[in-house]
Amino acid sequence: MENYNCSSLAIVKAFHYDITNFLVVVLLITKPIDYMLKINEIFKSIQGESTYAGLPCTFIRLAGCNLRCTYCDTNYAYYDGKEISDEDIVSKIEEYGVKCVEFTGGEPLLQEETPKLLKTLLDRGYDVLVETNGSICIGCLDKRLTIIMDYKSPKSGMHERMRPKNFEFLKPTDQIKFVLMDESDYTWAKEIILSNNLIEKFENILMSPAYGELSPKSLVSWVLNDNLQVRVQLQIHKYIWAPDEREGV
Ligand code: SF4
Repeated sequence: MENYNCSSLAIVKAFHYDITNFLVVVLLITKPIDYMLKINEIFKSIQGESTYAGLPCTFIRLAGCNLRCTYCDTNYAYYDGKEISDEDIVSKIEEYGVKCVEFTGGEPLLQEETPKLLKTLLDRGYDVLVETNGSICIGCLDKRLTIIMDYKSPKSGMHERMRPKNFEFLKPTDQIKFVLMDESDYTWAKEIILSNNLIEKFENILMSPAYGELSPKSLVSWVLNDNLQVRVQLQIHKYIWAPDEREGV
């Protein structure tokens, strides 16, 4: 009788062990598979540019870029990155506890899963900004986003890759930024602004001197001379930290 009870117990234990393993396997199979994004870095800092300049923000820097601008200061993001699940990215954002989240790069819209994560964060009430380089179609993006479109000038070497059609998809509250290297870049940007009526259509047209290439004073003098209704701005993170400091600023 005693032997019988021991055997029964062993069978019950074995069965319990098997069913537990079985349930774990079923759970793993049926759990929705997280998508992964290749991330160069996630960090908290203050916004260095745009009308959000100075505000605390969590930055998600995605790896990879389809352009090669002459003045690029984030070439370390061209290839370096780690595959991170959507859940882990959201956890990190929640840990930082900042309402503003910016997706940058590289070029954040190159990865096809990016819009899914943007939507998740918008649904959770975050202010989500996307800094994109103007060469990728933005027509399908969620209208709750704030888009900062970095429209490349001739001296960047990438202006022929820009899509003027993107202007049609921007909302009046989105922002268009021109980073300029010299007066010919300024003249070109002014022509793009005026010929596309950008000042009438958008609240914020931004012009920045490329750091170390164009003096802010020169840019201000051209803007004032033309009475051009654009916002001149400096990359304030270059003044707070060393200009060549690369990650996490
Ligand atoms: S789009 Fe941005 S990340 Fe890409 S090359 Fe130009 S400056 Fe660098």
